Amino acid sequence: MCEYCHKHGEGKKWYLQAKNYSQDLESDLKKRRVFDMNVLGKDMQKWAQVKKAPFFVRAIQEPRIAERVRNMHFGQVLPIEDVEQIFGIVNNVVRLPCFCRKARNVKEQRYCYGISVLPQGEEAQKVVNKPGTGFLSGYETSDLEKVSKEEALENFRQYEKEGLCHSVWTALTPFIVGLCNCDRSDCGAMQSAVVKGMSFMYRAEYVAELDPELCNGCRACMRVCQFGAMAYSAGNNKAYIDTGKCYGCGVCRAVCTKDAIHLHDRASVPAVANLW
Ligand code: SF4
Ligand code: SF4
Repeated sequence: MCEYCHKHGEGKKWYLQAKNYSQDLESDLKKRRVFDMNVLGKDMQKWAQVKKAPFFVRAIQEPRIAERVRNMHFGQVLPIEDVEQIFGIVNNVVRLPCFCRKARNVKEQRYCYGISVLPQGEEAQKVVNKPGTGFLSGYETSDLEKVSKEEALENFRQYEKEGLCHSVWTALTPFIVGLCNCDRSDCGAMQSAVVKGMSFMYRAEYVAELDPELCNGCRACMRVCQFGAMAYSAGNNKAYIDTGKCYGCGVCRAVCTKDAIHLHDRASVPAVANLW
């Protein structure tokens, strides 16, 4: 379990614990924290600069900046079964332009989904019913595309077959605001995490395992892995997984016609149990 499961999920998956967000929401509104993209952008720049600093500077400053960024905006890779569970607690879904793809001038295909989660508990209801909080009514959808949960989920299943990796995102952690469908060539967070080591997008709570007895060496899985975690052995005509690189997205599983790939709880695989 990642640190957010311990902090916000009572040892369960943090992104499924809406009742805990409700409690946090109450205290957050009292503290009046505000999500500010400019502050986030400046912290990201500082983080990138500190990465190039001498070791002793990095050792002191990097954990502080990383925590600030993750407290503002944090993502985690999800397999499709956990996406389905999140849709089970969501009350509004809108499809919106992907910021990363837009920034890279890639053709806009609306791979990102804004979601709002119904807070639970009497006290939380009092808070969200205050004028201006807009939490129960969901997003301002006038210039966004409102979609049903069923339609959104169907889109996610299709994206997975296309090799896109799902992730859940917060704006003021732990409030989940969005689900994305990313690939490494366009996703800023994925590139920051995998290439630059600025990890504000964690691995999934899972890791993949490949059964060599079932594998026929077709390599379809290798073509879709966004994290370079798969390799091929010509000697025995089998694919294999480097669990140290695996983000547990399950996209390889979706394209394997031999049912040779399964996901396991990360916590049950000691070598990667604490690798995020
Ligand atoms: S897609 Fe399945 S059968 Fe093909 S190489 Fe990967 S694990 Fe083996
Ligand atoms: S090997 Fe791991 S990271 Fe790569 S596609 Fe499969 S589950 Fe995702």
